[in-house]
Amino acid sequence: MTRTLSARRCAWRGLLLDEARHFFGKDAVKALLERMAEHGLNVFHWHLTDDQGWRLDLPGMPELVRFGAMRASSPRPGEDASSDGAPYGPFFYTARDIREIVGFAGALGIRVVPEIDLPGHVRALLAAHPELACEGAEFPREPLCTWGVCEDVLCAGSDEAVDFCGRILEAVCDLFPSEFVHLGGDECPTARWRSCPRCRERIRAEGLPDEAALQGWLTRRLAEKLAARGRRTVVWNEALRRGDLPPSAVVQVWCGNPAAEAAAAARKGHDVVLSPVQETYFTLPEGLPGDPYRYRAWVLENGWTLPADRVRAFDPFSFVPPDLAGRVLGGECCAWSESIHDRAELEYKVLGRLAAFGEALNRPF
Ligand SMILES: [Zn+2]
Repeated sequence: MTRTLSARRCAWRGLLLDEARHFFGKDAVKALLERMAEHGLNVFHWHLTDDQGWRLDLPGMPELVRFGAMRASSPRPGEDASSDGAPYGPFFYTARDIREIVGFAGALGIRVVPEIDLPGHVRALLAAHPELACEGAEFPREPLCTWGVCEDVLCAGSDEAVDFCGRILEAVCDLFPSEFVHLGGDECPTARWRSCPRCRERIRAEGLPDEAALQGWLTRRLAEKLAARGRRTVVWNEALRRGDLPPSAVVQVWCGNPAAEAAAAARKGHDVVLSPVQETYFTLPEGLPGDPYRYRAWVLENGWTLPADRVRAFDPFSFVPPDLAGRVLGGECCAWSESIHDRAELEYKVLGRLAAFGEALNRPF
């Protein structure tokens, strides 16, 4: 399976760009794709939906960007608890933009893997379609204006919500030719499901042990829909803790003990992509003198930095025992954008380490 990506040691040499928290636009994305190609990277993981913004105008679903592509304010840089009071957006890509960028990437030998984060990180989706929340129509019609994990998630007990996700994925498959579609699945609190009558009924009817298993149930359904379109599902590693997934699903490891998480996923028969925070998150400061930019409080509190030398030393195969090495597709560096506000900041925080990451993943056997 890895050979469908590349015959090199690391078949998956990726970069994640989060355009939900901040939006950079076509020119910045194309410039980034060109740098990726120069450094031998071949997977552009495009994080297009989250609590704070929905950046994808899908045919026949105008509400998504009408309500989901703009938020009333954002936290001030480096001060998560304060608001800048400034409306942000509307920012989104049209179907035509997407096709243009997918074609541009393809000409550079880069595949574009879209991420539609479900069933958590969906406040912007619920802003567009309040009826898909556990609370129903009373839900506020605006994306989240703060960072962090949000308790508002998709109502997994609602047939309408499950069907709507299926329609979204159909439209995504129409736009993106990639064999892989990322369903997110990270940071999904279960508090709403615990008190929602429809979710309680789903848990009972499906014979599920608890609310956590409801996420596994939903992800399996959505993975089946993608499989029917010939696509493989990718999820973040927490999703696997919420129930088994089809073995064809790829697990991207970022949190917990990365070695243990990667080995557990590989033992279940999943291919894995390694994105451990302390090796691949460009949200950590590089530690350069005179760095003019701000970083998230949790990063600074941990005292974490990610110098280019550490990126250059990254080896995704070092996280699993040799007998599981065949399950490692490769690695991916991540540019989450809560604390990346514009193109200049994006390029400052990403480009130097992108070169180091390209070296790491193109290392010979
Ligand atoms: Zn519910």
